[in-house]
Amino acid sequence: MASKSFDYDLVVIGSGAGGSIAADIMADNKWKVAIVEHDIYGGEVANWSSVPMQALLRAADVYDISKNHGPALGLRSGAIGYNYPSVHAWKNTAMRRSGVANTERYYQNKGISALHGTARFIGPHEISIDQRQIKSKYFLIATGAQPADGAVVGIDKTPHLTPRAALDLVRPPKTLFIIGGGPTGCEFAELFSVFGTKVYIADEASRLLPKEDIEASELIETQFKSRRGMSVLPRSKVIRIAREGIMTRVTYISGSEEKSVKVDQVLLAAGRMPMVDLGLENAHVEFSVHGVETNEFLETSRRGIYAAGDVLGRFSYAHTGVYESRVVANNLLHPKRRLEPDYSAVPRVTHATTEIASVGMSEADCLKRDLSIQVGFAPIHIIARANIDNIRDGFVKVITDKKGMLIGATIAAPHAGESIHELTLAIQYSLTAAEVASTLHAFPSWSEAIRVACGNIRIKK
Ligand SMILES: Cc1cc2nc3c(=O)[nH]c(=O)nc-3n(C[C@H](O)[C@H](O)[C@H](O)COP(=O)(O)OP(=O)(O)OC[C@H]3O[C@@H](n4cnc5c(N)ncnc54)[C@H](O)[C@@H]3O)c2cc1C
Repeated sequence: MASKSFDYDLVVIGSGAGGSIAADIMADNKWKVAIVEHDIYGGEVANWSSVPMQALLRAADVYDISKNHGPALGLRSGAIGYNYPSVHAWKNTAMRRSGVANTERYYQNKGISALHGTARFIGPHEISIDQRQIKSKYFLIATGAQPADGAVVGIDKTPHLTPRAALDLVRPPKTLFIIGGGPTGCEFAELFSVFGTKVYIADEASRLLPKEDIEASELIETQFKSRRGMSVLPRSKVIRIAREGIMTRVTYISGSEEKSVKVDQVLLAAGRMPMVDLGLENAHVEFSVHGVETNEFLETSRRGIYAAGDVLGRFSYAHTGVYESRVVANNLLHPKRRLEPDYSAVPRVTHATTEIASVGMSEADCLKRDLSIQVGFAPIHIIARANIDNIRDGFVKVITDKKGMLIGATIAAPHAGESIHELTLAIQYSLTAAEVASTLHAFPSWSEAIRVACGNIRIKK
């Protein structure tokens, strides 16, 4: 029970991945909990990011496989077509079925007060929610992030798509310029190009997916150009967008040249900025535009106020948000046995033409730290599963320290987002490549390529 001076033991601000699990766990432990949300309950991942995005990509995949891969297997697929409004309706069905969107009633049924409105700190123990004032002993800030504007002139005056709006289109645009070649930009590029859009994708970095290993970027760029007919524009900084009739002119600098192109729609996928505008200064919580600052236990500069999820500015994944939310719940329940989040094996997945999944350190990370490493590589076409499935493109790359302990890995293959967990477990529990290589892998499976790549690590004695 909350003491007399507080309305609640814990108030969670934000009902997404970073907020919801802690609210759940604390309510299970008989704490008096409220969760505040000013939009639809469930946050970004359930309503406007991963779940709807993956549902649309599933439709794109099935369409692409039937149309483009069927003939090689002896299937007649000439008549296959699509109706995008029905694809859109499928996305809504998938969201409903996933059960994580619109979760207000779930909280109410669990005895958690679901308070609707915008929370702002008035002091270290008090927030306002629109006109109401609420006192709580502890707070969890899980307000997520919002799209960054990419510092493009004219973006505020020119209609353009955000990821949220792009997921809600009922017709793919004829031409689309995507600003940002990270995972979100690449997933939208894949989605719309499969459904017939001419896509331009630009990034200031020297390659798409700049945080991944270079082999992954090269594979995706080649596939985007040759299979999807995209214009891939690395080293291209968009400087201006402006309306021209019903079209939008995008101007960008590529090398030292200024270039421009006219398109139907522009999608801004230039990253996300933590949502820190909630009166944090009134609660003496330190923060910057890069996120809320915390100690190693995810507690902010103000005792009793914790933070989790995208608002920390560390990662932008649902699974890291959920993990941090669990760590916060543990630290509230067990103040003498507080946990620190361990980020040594964070898996990441991009669903492009070939699925890319990676974990741990990239080769560039290792070089920056001047680590002495070994690299094992297996092209996907050498394993039986790839030949059976008529897939030629892809690879597994593993990185070990000089003693052979796994520290990083990338998989480019169908179901890479599943296979990566073998290597995630291996990195988390400090296994060597030799130990993974000597583990039986079923025949024929995609994971055989992991065994081969790990077997290619040779430790100099
Ligand atoms: C297009 C796209 C695709 C993605 N795909 C994936 C993926 O496949 N896998 C993956 O792991 N991650 C993916 N992500 C990232 C993932 O969506 C985020 O990392 C995750 O949703 C972050 O959870 P969160 O709880 O920190 O924030 P959110 O889910 O954004 O939740 C924060 C909540 O707080 C509310 N809020 C904010 N301020 C206030 C306030 N003052 N008062 C009340 N309520 C407030 C917001 O309305 C929001 O509901 C994707 C992101 C995008 C944009």
